[in-house]
Amino acid sequence: MTKKEKELISIPITVNVPYRFAAGKYMTKFLMELKNNGKILAIKCPKCGRVQLPPRVVCAQCHVKNDEWVELSHEGTLVAFTIMYLPLTDPTTGKPHKPPFVYGSVRLDGATSVLDHLVNIEPTMDKVWVGMRCKVVLRPQKDRIGDLSDIRCLEPLPGQKKPRG
Ligand SMILES: [Zn+2]
Repeated sequence: MTKKEKELISIPITVNVPYRFAAGKYMTKFLMELKNNGKILAIKCPKCGRVQLPPRVVCAQCHVKNDEWVELSHEGTLVAFTIMYLPLTDPTTGKPHKPPFVYGSVRLDGATSVLDHLVNIEPTMDKVWVGMRCKVVLRPQKDRIGDLSDIRCLEPLPGQKKPRG
């Protein structure tokens, strides 16, 4: 005797669930300074001295409250990268970014943590390397909206050559 499966009825619907969440006191300050003044702020731990970007209320290592704001340079050093050959959905647009492209982690001068972002450079191993100096490119002030997409991309500083070896 075979068990007869029940036919399930499905009703296709699309649920629209708009939502907003509070960025919080520290992230709000970070985003407002970025939007209004083009400043990149980080927070420094009073115990271990780590300078975190984006800012966190509590140091994850020391569990003490961070309360010293630090303005970071817009320049830094590429500490890791990947050349992407698959589309990656841009969280700020919801659209895939056309491959190939370079995605990298830059430690801005003065920061302990890194900023991960699109690197605007030809996606070839001849043009990108760990240690490359980069700068942050912001949206023009009139176009800034107060979220992380106000940082458009990272770009290499001019006049550099990939070290041999
Ligand atoms: Zn700490």
